[in-house]
Amino acid sequence: MAAIAEQEIARAAERMRDELVAWRRHLHRHPELSFQEEETGRWVAGQLAALGVEARRPWATAVVADLEGGEGGPTVAIRADMDALPVSEETGLEFASERPGVMHACGHDGHTAILLGVARLLASFRGRWRGRVRLLFQPAEEKIPGGALGLIEHGALDGVERVIGLHLWSNLPVGKAGLNPGVLMANADDFRIVVRGRGGHGSAPHQAVDAVWVGAQLVVALQGIVSRGVDPLQPAVLTVGTFHAGFNFNVIAPAAEMTGTVRTFDEATREEVIRRMRSLVEHTCAAAGADYEFEYNRGYPALVNHAEEARVLAAAARRVLGAENVDDRYPPNMGGEDFAYYLRERPGAFLLLGAGPREGSGAPHHSPRFTIDEEALPLGVRILSEAALDLLEAKG
Ligand SMILES: [Zn+2]
Ligand SMILES: [Zn+2]
Repeated sequence: MAAIAEQEIARAAERMRDELVAWRRHLHRHPELSFQEEETGRWVAGQLAALGVEARRPWATAVVADLEGGEGGPTVAIRADMDALPVSEETGLEFASERPGVMHACGHDGHTAILLGVARLLASFRGRWRGRVRLLFQPAEEKIPGGALGLIEHGALDGVERVIGLHLWSNLPVGKAGLNPGVLMANADDFRIVVRGRGGHGSAPHQAVDAVWVGAQLVVALQGIVSRGVDPLQPAVLTVGTFHAGFNFNVIAPAAEMTGTVRTFDEATREEVIRRMRSLVEHTCAAAGADYEFEYNRGYPALVNHAEEARVLAAAARRVLGAENVDDRYPPNMGGEDFAYYLRERPGAFLLLGAGPREGSGAPHHSPRFTIDEEALPLGVRILSEAALDLLEAKG
């Protein structure tokens, strides 16, 4: 097999620039929420068919396709997530969402366009690489339990040796990338606490059990778990995001409900936080004479890159972006990402690809004003294509 030169890949990606932008804008106009990506799935399968690639639909919102190279090589999977968020777009872009209340506010429209570009690029070099590239167009990254587990259950990793993926990252300017040979993203869990007291007259607290008072103690005391109960060298965040209670200024609230999230990197730290939360809720409520409900949902596990695959992905990014623009010791962040599940099953790596403005800072992910610099699209195609070819050991 003749090696495929970097310049050939660069030219091929450059030639499809307009198409990448058009694909991404089409997806951006027609966003679909997690587990509802039927139209998106149909459209992706249609685009693949136009490339002569037959897609499988494990279920209505998921698309998997194999690109076959020459015989005898390994199989490398590349994943893109396809779902949008329940956010009302405020970008004012001419290709803004046409669905009220739904928006590609995390860049998954770009991920889908990039993976289609990789499919087109690698298909055009067919006969010059060995093995198989499996394209995973995954639904529902934004909503637990996520689409990755379902795809894995449907055999998406059967026969796969390695798996790679990327996230367009607005915290990095376009032209830069970051990754880490270890933990890159967090255990992302959520919880719900309901304090059940006893309602009464605001002037007679001794005849009631005040759920606002108990709940307020919990909000404060929960923060003590992170500052006093966890190894200071192990990061942890606990946020109470909602607190609802009460009816009127002179009525003691019979119940208070809180929801929130816990983020950790380390599994033992995660379990310690849960143990202490449970104990704190139980004893605080008992001391006040209140009952409680405590629900804790373990979300996506921490995303942990494998060192060798992270090295290959970083090397591909360096060739495309220049060595000075790739940080292979990029600090982990407390976001959650269900790509983590693939990395529990197979060696692989995940890259954060800059898609923010070259100067200044853009709107954060999930914001109504979030957008990406489309210059990142051909760069993403090149990096993933080069990394896949390297992992297939086709490049000389
Ligand atoms: Zn997101
Ligand atoms: Zn995302």
